[in-house]
Amino acid sequence: MSHISCQQLVELVTSYLDGSLDPESTQLFEEHLAVCPGCETYVEQFRVTIARLGEVPVGSLSDDAQRRLLEAFRDLPR
Ligand SMILES: [Zn+2]
Repeated sequence: MSHISCQQLVELVTSYLDGSLDPESTQLFEEHLAVCPGCETYVEQFRVTIARLGEVPVGSLSDDAQRRLLEAFRDLPR
């Protein structure tokens, strides 16, 4: 079993939250969340956004938004 990167997690988050992620990827996703506070916070914020919108905002996470998130992750202490 390998691990996923923060970038991979960001790419998988919409599938994870709408339940379309396969079981193996779901496990990797949750293992990453357990050890990465930055991504845990990100997913929580995503959940809040979805709750407000009432749906998974597929396509609304623009390339620019993803880039800003990844830049934020890079600044986190390791
Ligand atoms: Zn992460």
